Amino acid sequence: MTVTTAAPNQARSPKVQAWLDDRSSDSLLIGGRWVPAKSGKTFETVNPTTEQVLGAVAEAGPEDVDAAVAAARAAFESGPWPQMAPGERARLLRNLAGLMEENLDELAELETLDNGMTIGTAQAFVQVAIESIYYYAGAVQQVFGSTAPSAPGNFNYILRQPLGVVGAIIPWNAPLTAASWKIGPALAAGNTMILKPAESTPLTAIRLGELITEAGFPPGVFNLLTGFGPEVGAPMANHYGINKLTFTGSVGTGRGILEASARTNLKRVTLELGGKSPNIIFPDADMDAAIANSLAGFATITGQVCVAGTRLFVQRDVKDEVVDALTGAADSLTMGDPLDPATTMGPLANKAQFERVQSYFEVGKAEGAVAKAGGETLDRPGYFVRPTVFDGVENSMRIAQEEIFGPVVSVIPFSDEYDAVLQGNDTTYGLAAAVWTRDVSRAHTVARQIQAGTVWINTYLQLDPTMPFGGFKESGLGREFGPDWYQHFTEEKAVFLKL
Ligand code: ADP
Repeated sequence: MTVTTAAPNQARSPKVQAWLDDRSSDSLLIGGRWVPAKSGKTFETVNPTTEQVLGAVAEAGPEDVDAAVAAARAAFESGPWPQMAPGERARLLRNLAGLMEENLDELAELETLDNGMTIGTAQAFVQVAIESIYYYAGAVQQVFGSTAPSAPGNFNYILRQPLGVVGAIIPWNAPLTAASWKIGPALAAGNTMILKPAESTPLTAIRLGELITEAGFPPGVFNLLTGFGPEVGAPMANHYGINKLTFTGSVGTGRGILEASARTNLKRVTLELGGKSPNIIFPDADMDAAIANSLAGFATITGQVCVAGTRLFVQRDVKDEVVDALTGAADSLTMGDPLDPATTMGPLANKAQFERVQSYFEVGKAEGAVAKAGGETLDRPGYFVRPTVFDGVENSMRIAQEEIFGPVVSVIPFSDEYDAVLQGNDTTYGLAAAVWTRDVSRAHTVARQIQAGTVWINTYLQLDPTMPFGGFKESGLGREFGPDWYQHFTEEKAVFLKL
């Protein structure tokens, strides 16, 4: 394991540093204007690499949620947005994607400063965000209604119409990408929206708000509220003026959002929640590819990925060999300043997560698992934990059942295909899974039997906007992307016409 020295709290590019220095804490975008919280409160966002403050942002409260809903409602019902042809909405989304491309390096650097992911990963994720905005720009003009097989004397048809005001609440692990995954479909379908980024990573959402304004979206179409879950997220979930809430985050918060919908206006809810994804290696796999991807599968963004392959099932005969190789690979990661291109793993994104991951080191050891790599923090400033490979794990242990959201993998042996599927499915989650084998029949059989929204065969972490994304079981409700994306962002209207 290589560990580089403490990073400065500074941006590398003068443009990003100037933005950080010059920006105001009036970070609420409501009705096209940047404003402070009505309470005047602000809070600080911290660089997880140095634990130093990056800047202050507005701390919104319920009264700001009301103002944002009013602005989004006005923009949905009057003004230029509802008058726009779909092609014009597509053009605005393309403008936005183009601006994101022009600012890719700056956006990535800001993401690294606020979240701690390595700069290379940040660039790749900003690219994913850009692709998703382009995808939805192209998809705007694909939202067709249909004509019904009406009886003679009738002409009946089905319209697809926007829902109204969409609320989007996102987590801190891949902030800009998560924001784009919500903004793209909500706006493509003709809705207006309010975005609440996570409290620990608000900066790229603020920059995105600037770019959305620059792209020419009418005022109030996109509104941004920085702040905390209970003061902003919960009022959004309970708001009668919000027609749909799309959420990415933890299962507990997702449940609360669904309950809030049930108690209030039955707003539509899409939930993209956690995972404890099984990654299954058979002895006939291409082992080099399996090891490299398994490492990426649990260590990318320091393990803070909902689809992370944190339960590594390995056929018993090759388990020790895989543990050794994975331990070596984990130990060879270079941890340090994530802005340094030589760094291959940065810190965790915030202090709460740092403490949570450390607590699981103790849970694992107390349960009898053995940390072959890691299992400890780094003695340096910043929220750094070492990539951790737990051996001697049983699928029933807490470290194998609970989402840790850090670079921690549990290696679990299996005997045969049946056992691998049985254990793989023995979880409350069902977000993703992977299978490594050269046997085509086995690959497809396991892919069919695994209960997960995404299954990778001989690969990991691949996403594509043409493919639906979401979870089975307690990993979520509904899907993002894919050919049916618009079903989650529009209402269907049956129109009967008597001829
Ligand atoms: P984590 O615990 O990993 O931060 P959360 O689900 O709490 O995951 O956070 C994801 C997002 O949900 C964040 O933007 C957070 O502010 C928001 N959030 C937290 N609590 C609530 C809540 N009660 N209602 C709505 N949103 C919330």
